[in-house]
Amino acid sequence: MKNELIVLPHDPNWNQARLAWNLAVDQQPAAVALPESAEDVQAVVRWARQRGLRIAPQGTGHNAHALGALAHTVLLKTERMRGVEIDAVSQRARVEAGVLWGDVTDAAAEHGLAALAGSSADVGVVGYSLGGGISWLARRYGLASNSVTAVELVNAGGGLVRADAEQNADLFWALRGGGGSFGVVTALEFTLYPIREVYAGILFFPLERGAEVLRAWRRWVDTVPDEVTSVGRFLQFPPIPNIPEPVRGKSFVVVEATSLLGKDGTDELLRPLRELGPGMDTFATIPAQELKRLHMDPERPVPGAGDGMVLADLNDAAIDALVQTAGAGSHSPLLSVELRHAGGALARKAPGGGAVSSIDGNFLLFAVGMAPTSEAGAAVSSRVELVQSALAPWDAGHVFSNFATKRERGERLFGDLTYRRLQTVKAAVDPEDVFRSNHPVRLPAAAEARQAA
Ligand SMILES: Cc1cc2nc3c(=O)[nH]c(=O)nc-3n(C[C@H](O)[C@H](O)[C@H](O)COP(=O)(O)OP(=O)(O)OC[C@H]3O[C@@H](n4cnc5c(N)ncnc54)[C@H](O)[C@@H]3O)c2cc1C
Repeated sequence: MKNELIVLPHDPNWNQARLAWNLAVDQQPAAVALPESAEDVQAVVRWARQRGLRIAPQGTGHNAHALGALAHTVLLKTERMRGVEIDAVSQRARVEAGVLWGDVTDAAAEHGLAALAGSSADVGVVGYSLGGGISWLARRYGLASNSVTAVELVNAGGGLVRADAEQNADLFWALRGGGGSFGVVTALEFTLYPIREVYAGILFFPLERGAEVLRAWRRWVDTVPDEVTSVGRFLQFPPIPNIPEPVRGKSFVVVEATSLLGKDGTDELLRPLRELGPGMDTFATIPAQELKRLHMDPERPVPGAGDGMVLADLNDAAIDALVQTAGAGSHSPLLSVELRHAGGALARKAPGGGAVSSIDGNFLLFAVGMAPTSEAGAAVSSRVELVQSALAPWDAGHVFSNFATKRERGERLFGDLTYRRLQTVKAAVDPEDVFRSNHPVRLPAAAEARQAA
């Protein structure tokens, strides 16, 4: 076994090795593995299995909350596997398991190409794509999982396999939306799109105008084509030095949007929102890779707590419920409460798509706050629950795994039929339940009983 591939609790670098991106999560696994290659991953799988340990693959730990306790588990962190290859001719990327979105969007931009990256540059490509993946181009190009063309993975037997439309097609289906329950992904291939520039920006209004602005945004989204993807959001910036001066310590309701129609094609669309008189308007033509800053996500690990939900739709009463629980005067400790507009290509099941190929619901909510102490985390979590229960009448009846930070029932994540099919794939590729995902696909009851016997 190579030096430093496995880190154990008595090793000097233990506390560093077990850190998640979400610093509020105290990960206490049996061991941490830091592979540099697919061969290293195979060695870790053999090492863990010889000791009867389970394996939890982790890219960054953005969704570490949902993993839960890690006793008897090797936390396999892919952060050293950072290779990116761009094939400009076929407009495809092949990335190793630890690659972050910022690495891909910068490399793709050199060829005039864009990827279906998330809002944050340091989210892991693999975890995001296995969960579906909602980008700033989502209403035009759909979930990122639909653009995945091949997955390379180390399975429970320690073998390196490729899954695509021709080989291991069931596994390929399961991996696109079904998450990390089926093995350790070592590399991913996906389609890039010929987009150099986008017209994008933010309209800022005082938080006190929350109901008025969100209602106007709600009417507006019905008028825009799939080329426009937008977010309506409450933001309460803390008064801390690393927040830029113009917004530091201030609270806003904002509309963030990206358009593929250029300035001329978009300005007319934006008119009703601009007529509301935003205090700040940052819309501009920007290089596509700069979308990573549009959402103002933290660019380094932070302690946080939050959760999401899928909303079937949003009406005035839903907006009022949101304002009462998270808007001006609500004393909410939440830093951000966002509503992402879905629909468009997100609503259409992709032909030949995977386990999750569309979003059944018009809006996605995500509410989050800082959790530097357990008391602050508890206050944030209880406010997130308050927001979720206020919006329960509009709940679409299922959750989107990337925006779920708690353990959810498989049926609620995937729907009954899809979940049963995922369980069948799980039983075929990992009958001893070696791999632990943040949102696990459990073995079917019969296989679980055999395993327990
Ligand atoms: C600030 C922020 C911004 C975000 N923005 C977006 C967004 O715009 N759109 C969106 O869709 N989501 C977004 N998310 C959610 C994000 O996509 C999920 O948290 C996702 O799970 C993160 O993947 P990761 O690899 O970075 O995190 P991890 O916590 O490392 O991984 C999550 C899970 O993915 C699986 N996994 C990861 N790597 C592997 C592997 N090599 N093999 C097998 N399984 C693996 C595991 O089951 C793991 O538990 C955001 C989250 C945050 C905190």
